[in-house]
Amino acid sequence: MSALADRLASVQGSIADAARDAGRHPNEITTIVVTKFQPASLVAELAALGVQDIGENRHQEAQAKAAELASLGLRWHFVGQLQTKKARQVRAYANAIHSVDRPALVEALRSDESTIDCFVQVNLTEDPARGGVEPDGLDDLVELVLGTPGLRLRGLMGVAPLGEPARPAFGRMRLLSERVRRTAPDAASLSMGMSHDFREAILEGATHLRIGTAITGNRPDAG
Ligand SMILES: *Cc1c(COP(=O)(O)O)cnc(C)c1O
Repeated sequence: MSALADRLASVQGSIADAARDAGRHPNEITTIVVTKFQPASLVAELAALGVQDIGENRHQEAQAKAAELASLGLRWHFVGQLQTKKARQVRAYANAIHSVDRPALVEALRSDESTIDCFVQVNLTEDPARGGVEPDGLDDLVELVLGTPGLRLRGLMGVAPLGEPARPAFGRMRLLSERVRRTAPDAASLSMGMSHDFREAILEGATHLRIGTAITGNRPDAG
């Protein structure tokens, strides 16, 4: 087996273990492999290994890879901070946007022609620059998304804060998700859990993991 196949199998095994420990079925959990800074050739290798969901966080890079690999039928998840002026372009190739975090972006994503899956990103840190709506503003933003044509709200997305244990932060996400589901019963998904904290995320109900380096190995550039 290649090193990539090895790492993928190992992470898949850990996901199955965590799901079992949480009394959940691994089939309820979608693993998105985050390939930012990685070449398209690595994405193609992942596809050959059976990966179907790919995550990217920079528009130009994502657009180029999605175009180059269009024949592979992958699902592209945009997980990075998104500029309003790039929103329509991202809509064109992405299957889901995980980083909807402000009213101007919701407006920019409005469409009468097609529908895209989206997640409202919640800021779990004390730092407003980290992206995501503050928990206080969540209900209003959810209401706006629900009333905007062209967007299908799947649920919430969050990144665990640095320097504090991930599990309580994911527990807060779980509670916010329960609150949102009272007005939006279909928005039951939770996009949370990365290379170092996906186990904790699964224990708190994650349905969409966004895993990069644990599967891809180190990123070539920054990141
Ligand atoms: C890069 C990134 C990930 C994956 O991070 P790893 O630590 O490599 O697993 C997940 N979510 C977002 C939003 C990212 O930017």
